[in-house]
Amino acid sequence: MRSEITPEDLFECQQCGQCCHGYGGTYISRTDIENIAAYLGISEAVFLCRYCTPSAGGYVLAQKDDGFCVFWDQLCTIHPVKPRMCRAWPFIENLLKNPAGWDVMAEACPGMRTGFDKNDILRCVREKLHERDAMRNRQSESPADGKSS
Ligand code: SF4
Ligand code: SF4
Repeated sequence: MRSEITPEDLFECQQCGQCCHGYGGTYISRTDIENIAAYLGISEAVFLCRYCTPSAGGYVLAQKDDGFCVFWDQLCTIHPVKPRMCRAWPFIENLLKNPAGWDVMAEACPGMRTGFDKNDILRCVREKLHERDAMRNRQSESPADGKSS
């Protein structure tokens, strides 16, 4: 009997860096700003000035001349505190509305495997979103909130 498909069956990052290139930058939340500035040991003001670009009333991570994220150097140099948007990929909320989007996203991400039933995709996305919510709740209850994990 076939065992249940897991998120790990659907996705395994190949560390290729394609998602760290182009696409208009990575949105960062207030919590991301606090976490990354603390990780780098600089003030939030210096972090925003040095590594970010204003966008649509908020900020995105700046890009280097080659189009890569300012924190990409063969790998993510802020991996422990990378923005929520980077941590979420590819199990993003939009897929709950449109699971067919998985195969479209996979065209730009070699770590995403295709050919799965949409119900398996939906279940895995829900599972990962639930995991993330649980982790966020634990962090908000922790006195170490805002520091790298
Ligand atoms: S494009 Fe996909 S496989 Fe490549 S680094 Fe990003 S998440 Fe990993
Ligand atoms: S923060 Fe890290 S994972 Fe996110 S785009 Fe930049 S290099 Fe990639």
